[in-house]
Parts: sequence; C-alpha cells; structure tokens
Amino acid sequence: MLVSTDGIVLKQRKIANNRRMIVIFSKQYGKISAGTSINEKSRTKAALALRPFTYAEYDLFRGRETYSINSASVRTSYFSIGEEIERFETASVLINYLDSILQEGEAMPGLFDLALECLETISGAKGSCETVLYAFIVKSLRMLGVMPELGACVGCGRGLGELGTEHPMFSVTSGGIICAKCAAGEKTEGNALIYRPAFDIIEVFRFFLSRPLGSFAKVSLKGRVAETVRNIISDYISRYLGSDVLRNSIRLEV
Ligand SMILES: [Zn+2]
Repeated sequence: MLVSTDGIVLKQRKIANNRRMIVIFSKQYGKISAGTSINEKSRTKAALALRPFTYAEYDLFRGRETYSINSASVRTSYFSIGEEIERFETASVLINYLDSILQEGEAMPGLFDLALECLETISGAKGSCETVLYAFIVKSLRMLGVMPELGACVGCGRGLGELGTEHPMFSVTSGGIICAKCAAGEKTEGNALIYRPAFDIIEVFRFFLSRPLGSFAKVSLKGRVAETVRNIISDYISRYLGSDVLRNSIRLEV
C-alpha cells in the first residue's frame, strides 16, 4: 500500500545491498523505520529530503511490517542550523530526545508540530539557544502525560503557601513540588533526588508552558539558574522517560 506522510529524519544507518534504514518521526504514523536505496550524497530532490534537520514529505510503500521510501520532497530545509555550532548541538539534542522517547508506530501529531516549531526557532536563534530546548522538553512532558505536579506538595497535598521553604523544593523521585516535611521523610528512605533551587522553579516551568516556543529565541536563562533547570529536567526525563540525552550531550556554555 502506498502512503504519504510529513516527517523529520531522526537517524539513519547503512544496511545490506547499498541500502539505508532511515528512522523518521512522521506526523501521520509516529516514529517509523523505512528502508531506501536513495543515495543521500546525490543531489536529487529525494536525497535532499533525507538530510538532517529537514522537514519533508515522504511517499512510502507500507508492507506488513516494514516501510520503504519510494520518493521524498523537501518542504523546509533548516539548513542554517548547520551554520552555527550552538544551533547544531541544540538541534542534535532535540532529534536525539525525540528518538529516545518516541515509540514506533504511535502517532503524536501535536508533538510533531511542536518539534517543527522548535527546529524553526533554533534555525533563527542567535547565540545560546538551549532555553528553547528546555521549553520544548517541558511542553512535551504534558503531551506525553508525565508532567510534574506543580500545584501542591506531591507527598501530602499541602498548598504552595505551606511548603515551609522560601523557594519550592523539587523532588524528581516523587515527580514534583515537595514540602520541607515530606522532603525530610523522603530523604530518610534513601535514594531521594531532591533539588533546592535558589529561585522559584514553578515560575520557570509555568514560563515554559505558557509562552510559544518562538518567544524563547531571544530569552536565555543565566548561569546557575540554567544549570539547575538543566539538571532537574535531565534527571526528570531520565527517570520518567528513560532518556539520558541531556546527561550525555555536551554542556553548552551560557
Ligand atoms: Zn508534603
């Protein structure tokens, strides 16, 4: 059966008989693996659509268990991502993040559109653009159904006014804001992963959730705040999504 879908290439590898296996985040079918004999190095229209950071339309032959790419054409090439190392690194982490969290064959059109918006924003960003990536990841948590609890203590349900600390603490282990008493209890059980940010982490999360991704092209968190936000998000996606992409990627300077 012939099908057609919009998509972004997540990765590719060589397989037998001069063919490649391309992993695509497709809008209609979610993450799929598709074989092709199109040579990426050639300058044909279809070859250009197989390059990284390209939004393309793919015509696929859908077999019982496999896909193969018949032809492809570029919709948007975010080629400017390759022109600056910061953009390139941030977009690479985005692609690796998507590859690590998506299940094969599970369509997530909303996340697909958000990923395109993220690539678009990164392609036009000046200087450090990691804040765009953090905002994308936090927005994705909601779509993936693993959003942390930000409205009350995860342990006892006490409201934000009764947390017992100047700034809210964040428990990665329990998945959200935690009060001083519950944090102390969690620590005695061992293996607790609790952050005590010197700023309001709820405000940062809400900031990421409430604004469109494009607005983060000119916003960057500074120094210690950026580092703490990165560590919290990194530990959180590792625990709840099994993704270690922020832990493994190169630390970007801010
Ligand atoms: Zn509590």
